[in-house]
Amino acid sequence: MERLFYLDLSFEAWSQWVSEQNYPSYIAKQIFEWILKGVNDPQKFSNIPKALKEKLAESFRFELPKIDTRLKSRDESTKYVLKLWDDKLIEMVLMPSLDRVTLCISSQVGCKMNCSFCQTGKMGLMRNLSSGEILSQILIANNELENRKVTNVVFMGMGEPLDNFDELILALQIMTSKDGLGLSKHKVTVSTSGLVPEIEALGKKVAVSLAISFHTPFDEERSLMMPVNRKYPLDVLKKALLEYPIQTRHGITLEYVMIKNKNDSLKHAKALVKFAHGLKVKVNLIPLNPHPGTAMEPALEESLKSFQKYLEDRSISAPVRYSRGQDVSAACGQLAVKRKEELDEDPRLLWRQRRALERI
Ligand code: SAH
Ligand code: SF4
Repeated sequence: MERLFYLDLSFEAWSQWVSEQNYPSYIAKQIFEWILKGVNDPQKFSNIPKALKEKLAESFRFELPKIDTRLKSRDESTKYVLKLWDDKLIEMVLMPSLDRVTLCISSQVGCKMNCSFCQTGKMGLMRNLSSGEILSQILIANNELENRKVTNVVFMGMGEPLDNFDELILALQIMTSKDGLGLSKHKVTVSTSGLVPEIEALGKKVAVSLAISFHTPFDEERSLMMPVNRKYPLDVLKKALLEYPIQTRHGITLEYVMIKNKNDSLKHAKALVKFAHGLKVKVNLIPLNPHPGTAMEPALEESLKSFQKYLEDRSISAPVRYSRGQDVSAACGQLAVKRKEELDEDPRLLWRQRRALERI
């Protein structure tokens, strides 16, 4: 029988397993604590009885995803490609700053939403991550950090988190509970292309911060850029946002990838202000990260500036966010896709990444 991945068990599941082995319930708490500290070898669970350590090792798969590639950017962020047990690749980006440590994580291998500007979308959905695989990214990042821990998590890596709803909720519960990783709900942000029923369900189950991949205030254009808009057009999305329990000072974040001559006009800014009316939103303006196979280009500095000014003059905060780690393969999804292509093409190309690693 296939062994369960140790991180896929909730605290309740550990309690049940421990009681089935006829040990007292406090042992489950101890096991859970070791696991969340990032220790993934039961032999190192020093306060656990020896016989139980052995039972743990034979019953569960105690193996974190492996770090396949680690690329440090000049801006201090580090991009990781992780290899899962079945050799599938995902990526995460660790972005330490003075007052926080933000980790951008993946929720799926690939994505089926097929947004026109996104490289992850091009590969389609390969599979969902399990709740433990989602969590494992935080534990790996904590192990990589010296004397610091991840304080903020954003689901802006590969995948559409709300398309993997059940596993997402299990992972969020462990992330945000005080017996789990204890992260504040304000500091965990789920980013979605706009799956309305799941936005509503998320608000009811674990009301973490919400970001919407918005990208244009016009339905026709948005349906072309983001097929999800055909199912959940802007008025339906707005209703869900109005009802979402607001968690942060800024309310909901609208992510707006700025594409030259496409969605960067003042006409767009004006319609965006209209959409935002009645909502508590902040708009993140993100110059497009171009990637091979697309003719789209990032908006020019001057249109970014006038777009930003238009919003800010109307009291909508609109910081420009350059994707961190641009020099090591830009937007989330791009590095893992590149690695997959390289490995599919010719496994010997590994040396190229190795050389990059040596430079770190
Ligand atoms: N699927 C979710 C979360 C992952 S995408 C979502 O769409 O929200 C994370 C963010 O990266 C989204 O806002 C997405 O629109 C943005 N993104 C995708 N491709 C990009 C690109 N080429 N340049 C800049 N941002 C991009
Ligand atoms: Fe999927 Fe988000 Fe990319 Fe759209 S932008 S294809 S939802 S990962």
